[in-house]
Amino acid sequence: MKIILLGAPGAGKGTVAKLLSEYDGSVQISTGDILRSAVKTGSELGKKAKAYMDAGDLVPDELIMALMRERLAAPDCRQGFILDGFPRTIPQADALKGLLRELRIELDFVVSLEVPREVILDRLTTRRTCSNPDCQEIYNIKSNPPLPDGRCKKCGSLTIQRDDETEAAIQYRLETYEKKTSPLIEFYRTEGLLRQFPSVSSVETVAAVKRQLGK
Ligand code: AMP
Repeated sequence: MKIILLGAPGAGKGTVAKLLSEYDGSVQISTGDILRSAVKTGSELGKKAKAYMDAGDLVPDELIMALMRERLAAPDCRQGFILDGFPRTIPQADALKGLLRELRIELDFVVSLEVPREVILDRLTTRRTCSNPDCQEIYNIKSNPPLPDGRCKKCGSLTIQRDDETEAAIQYRLETYEKKTSPLIEFYRTEGLLRQFPSVSSVETVAAVKRQLGK
């Protein structure tokens, strides 16, 4: 499958992307995960991105496009991909359209995950993420907790609350989403690619996406 997942922070893009990727082997491409790993390893990209990320701001479009140009041209994307957290702005969506044309890649559709704000706030403040950059498993202290000592069930590393998941940072990220990312819904509606999925569980969303794909 070749799809984009759109949705506010905390709408469940990461979980849905992971499940879809396990289903047919399409690669999950999360710009957030790539950037967090870059910050951890201290690469050039990481150094440039860190301050924006800590503030809950978007990283500049040029940096993201340089990263995605390379990523989408990689051979593993030929089989299929799930874009999780990209594009995030109209300039990114425009640039992606050109890039896909260049690479002769056609998207199946764009999945818009529609989740009420109260649900999002609750989910984000209770989220914990594995601190191992190669793992980054996501937990929720209410519905899917890590081990009792706070360690990751998969790799044993400590799970943490991300710096950008404090209450204040979340409010700011949601405002950024409204201002910069939500216009993408109209953009993809106009392109005839938008498919809207109301707030349900990740498993139900995945089933609905598969039906939409005719699988
Ligand atoms: P996420 O894990 O998708 O919520 O991303 C975490 C942070 O990484 C965001 O708050 C942004 O600072 C940055 N980021 C991730 N994807 C993008 C993108 N497509 N454009 C700009 N910044 C991004």
